[in-house]
This record gives sequence, C-alpha cells and structure tokens, in this order.
Amino acid sequence: MRLKRHAFFCLIRRVPAKIIAVANQKGGVGKTTTAVNLAACLAAVGRRVLLFDLDPQANATSGVGLEKIEGASAYRVLLGEGGLLDKIKPTAFERLEVVPSEVDLCAADLELARLENHLLRVSQSLKPVLDSNRFDVVLIDCPPSLGILTLNAFAASDGLLVPLQCEYYALEGISMMNRVLAQLRDTGVNPRLDILGVVMTMFDGRTKLSNEVVGEVRNRLGAKVFETVIPRSTKLAEAPSFGKPIIHYDKFSAGAAAYELLAQEVIARLDAAPENEPQNSG
Ligand code: ATP
Ligand code: MG
Repeated sequence: MRLKRHAFFCLIRRVPAKIIAVANQKGGVGKTTTAVNLAACLAAVGRRVLLFDLDPQANATSGVGLEKIEGASAYRVLLGEGGLLDKIKPTAFERLEVVPSEVDLCAADLELARLENHLLRVSQSLKPVLDSNRFDVVLIDCPPSLGILTLNAFAASDGLLVPLQCEYYALEGISMMNRVLAQLRDTGVNPRLDILGVVMTMFDGRTKLSNEVVGEVRNRLGAKVFETVIPRSTKLAEAPSFGKPIIHYDKFSAGAAAYELLAQEVIARLDAAPENEPQNSG
C-alpha cells in the first residue's frame, strides 16, 4: 500500500531525492552497518536507493557485494574529472545501486583542500544524479572523522543520520557535530542541514549499561532518537563477509527486523520533511 501510494505520488509530481549522510566521527559505532542495511530495507519497500560510499575503507562497497576496483570511486569526480553518474554500479539487489569507494579516496581530504568550492564537491557531483530522477534516496556512508569528505557529505545533505553505540561516552562528539552543523548552516554552506535522527546501535538488552545509555540519550536528545534500537547481533556482524545486507542474508533475524523498522521510521520522517531547497551551487 505504502509502495503504491509512493509510486502514484511520484507519477503525479517529481519528488526530489533526499540525501542522508550517515555520520559520526567516532569509529566503529555502526555507521556502515546502518548505511548498508537501511539502504537495502528502503530499496526492499520500493524506494530507489543510491548508496554513496565516501569512506576510503570501502566497507559499504564490500557490504553490498562489490569488489574494490581501482579507479571506481568518486575520487576523480570530486577533483572535477568526469561525472558521478558514470561511477554508479548496480548491486545484486533490486533498486539498490552504489557509488563504490576504494583506497584512493584517502588522498581526497588533502587534494580537495586546495581546490575552489572544496566543501561543495559532493553536492555538485550529485546534482546530475538528482536531475536524472533515478533515485528517491541517496545514503552517504561517511568516514570516522570530521574531515573534508565528511563536511562535503554534510554540505550535500538534507539530513544526518547519526548512529550512537550503546556504550558510555556515546554522546561524546555529538556536541562537536552540532557545532559543525551550526557553522555550515550559518555560513550558508547548507542552510537546510539538520539531524534527521539518531539511532542507537549494538544494544544488548541483558546489560544494565545498554539500558542506561539508551535512557540517557533519550533524555538528552528526545524526539531526535528513533524508537527503533538496533540489537547487538552476530548475524549483523557476519552478513558483510557474504556481501549481503541482513535482509538478504537472514531475513528473519532480529537485526533484519530492526533495520526494517528503522526504514519505516526514516520514510515517515522524510515524507514529513519540507521539500528540498534547490542545491547550493556556489
Ligand atoms: P568506521 O568508523 O570504521 O567506519 P562504522 O561506524 O562504520 O566504523 P561498522 O563498520 O558498521 O561501524 O561497525 C563496526 C563493527 O561492529 C563491525 O565489525 C560491524 O560488523 C560490527 N557491528 C555493527 N553493528 C553491529 C550490531 N548491531 N551487532 C553486532 N555487530 C555490529
Ligand atoms: Mg564505516
């Protein structure tokens, strides 16, 4: 029903793609696991999804079953050579496509810093992709830093999805990220930027710690926190080694159910959000 309604809406009115950066400068908190599995779940319910791997570690690329291929990343495009549409690769999963990453993106932070409009390179490279009307959602998997690649993702995005691991100091860093968001908004780099939502990951209901951390984060961040909490699950951790998102690796696992629910919450927030402003081109 939701799929039919969405398809009908798209037929009568061109809905611009929403761009979401999955980001947290802390390492290993579940960014890539969330980007890959959310992308697959959104695609499974009918959204046309582009997973943009902006992390030189290329874990999202291998997580959807693609090999790292030299020259296949967005690196050259970000430097101004060629177009991003040519970098898009299909996956084995319907409606899910990917801009792969590879290790050359490591150099991008340094190289981009020397160029004009260095914060708008991702935004500008995505413009023809948005104009092609091929996608409903673009999910950007960010590296674990607030370096130039991540700032580029922020500058291009309609909203940030921030995974927080259920451990002490989970909130560490979110105030720094909020300061960066405010700066990008105030300087006009991306006036529409906000946090779409915070998702708690690697939750272990048997431990007091997990429950306390979720409680504290909900107290501090309120409605920004998604209802869905992602459980700690061996299946989620092993699915990437088979190059499959969890819904294609073990459809009936708790991890699959959690990401399916998260996808519904994300869709509800995206559909409730105001339409995109035109992309900042300066
Ligand atoms: P990085 O900062 O290095 O990019 P990340 O934030 O993208 O890391 P992931 O790669 O998604 O984090 O996850 C870190 C590790 O934790 C991986 O080995 C992943 O398989 C595992 N992991 C992530 N989420 C879960 C989960 N819900 N249950 C169990 N293991 C998980
Ligand atoms: Mg990652």
